[in-house]
Amino acid sequence: MAVKNLPIVPSGDPGALVEAANYATWRIFRPVITESAKVNPIVTLYCPDGAITVDESGAEVNYKLCKGCGICAKESEGIQMVPEYTGPKGVF
Ligand code: SF4
Repeated sequence: MAVKNLPIVPSGDPGALVEAANYATWRIFRPVITESAKVNPIVTLYCPDGAITVDESGAEVNYKLCKGCGICAKESEGIQMVPEYTGPKGVF
């Protein structure tokens, strides 16, 4: 089997593709932290996009990563899903 000489190409900075993603355009509902003290840290493991963090300062959602699936609100108290857009339907 011949070894191919593949070109060496530069890769992006770590996290560059993640930073470029913006799920806000397809999100219908978004999670809002209503009571940070009640948020179960286990939601950081349930979130499929790694969009929610919980530390000693409280819970925080990275809306650039969140796609609005609602798993975090289903699995923990202190998080409520609210409509992303509250204006008239069909008008953007
Ligand atoms: S709604 Fe889904 S994607 Fe967004 S923070 Fe919660 S679990 Fe993660």
